[in-house]
Amino acid sequence: MNLLGLLPAELESLAVELNHSRYRGRQLATWMYRKGVVDLAAMTDLPKEFRSALAESAIVSLPRVERVTPSQDGSHKLVLRLDDETLVSAVLMPDDDRLTLCLSTQVGCGFGCAFCLTGRMGVERNLTTGEIVGQVLVANGLAAAPRVTHMVFMGMGEPLANLGALTKAIRILTDPRLGFGYSARRITVSTVGLVAGIEKLGREALGVNLAISLHATTDDVRSRLMPVNRSWNLEALMAAVRRYPLAPRQRVFFEYVLLDRLNDSPEDASRLARLLRGIPAKVNLIPFNDWPDSGFRRPPLSRILAFQSSLLTAGVTTTVRWSKGEDIGAACGQLHESVVA
Ligand code: SAH
Ligand code: SF4
Repeated sequence: MNLLGLLPAELESLAVELNHSRYRGRQLATWMYRKGVVDLAAMTDLPKEFRSALAESAIVSLPRVERVTPSQDGSHKLVLRLDDETLVSAVLMPDDDRLTLCLSTQVGCGFGCAFCLTGRMGVERNLTTGEIVGQVLVANGLAAAPRVTHMVFMGMGEPLANLGALTKAIRILTDPRLGFGYSARRITVSTVGLVAGIEKLGREALGVNLAISLHATTDDVRSRLMPVNRSWNLEALMAAVRRYPLAPRQRVFFEYVLLDRLNDSPEDASRLARLLRGIPAKVNLIPFNDWPDSGFRRPPLSRILAFQSSLLTAGVTTTVRWSKGEDIGAACGQLHESVVA
């Protein structure tokens, strides 16, 4: 059993099971999640007997840093090795006074979007809650790096296909007293469009931001690019988005990979504006990041800017997201690690 990934309340119960007070469980949560200390021996205010009882029944396991690769643009790709020797990546992206961590939720991904290199890996397994929060602990523990301020679940995998571990991780990350204490508004969960998952996430009422990978404005094109559209088409997806609970001034993010001559026409831009009507939305256009033998191309700059300006003219808040870390294979859609390297 990995102590990392247990909710503060579960750590309290564990302490009781080991014949100690709930208070000892709260101290343990504080050490791991607030102070980032995972070495039981360093938790000096815990009684020795409690620590040795813990050591007998559990471990505290953190992903191991396999490599840290810096990019020209200031971002860093972390390749992390998990207990079963599989590898996942996380990407640190500084921007003004923010430090955003892009987190993985699965080893690989099973949704097979045509433009995504991670999709080529297939899915190996889900990450555990401990492995998800472990990525944050590792990033926060890197020497010389400031603390992570924002998190996006946009690394390897489909977060809503691992909803149990994801929601538990978010509860630990946002617990103000015994968890990491991050504001839910600084956390964004991106999905390929799993309608059932969007509804469940909404019911969990975690308050996190929702990002939808839209990428097309007709079912025909979307189904060709994203097989998931054959299960949940645009109409079903947009209906679920409209039902997602939003706080005042909170918006839904829509990611739209721009692929030359496939989804970047003026008609696409006006269909997109129509699809989003009535939704407090923000569109992030992501110029396609290439990878070997992808078969796709990034549109020329003039077409990217024209697409953006038609959306702006239609009143849709739209930014072009020039991905970080393209030179180190850390950009959107480029994450890919051989399962055992
Ligand atoms: N599986 C989730 C989380 C991954 S987020 C999802 O798909 O939403 C990664 C984002 O990068 C998604 O919006 C994805 O569609 C996008 N992406 C994938 N491949 C890309 C590529 N080659 N270039 C640019 N963006 C890409
Ligand atoms: Fe999976 Fe997202 Fe890549 Fe699609 S875009 S294959 S859902 S990681």
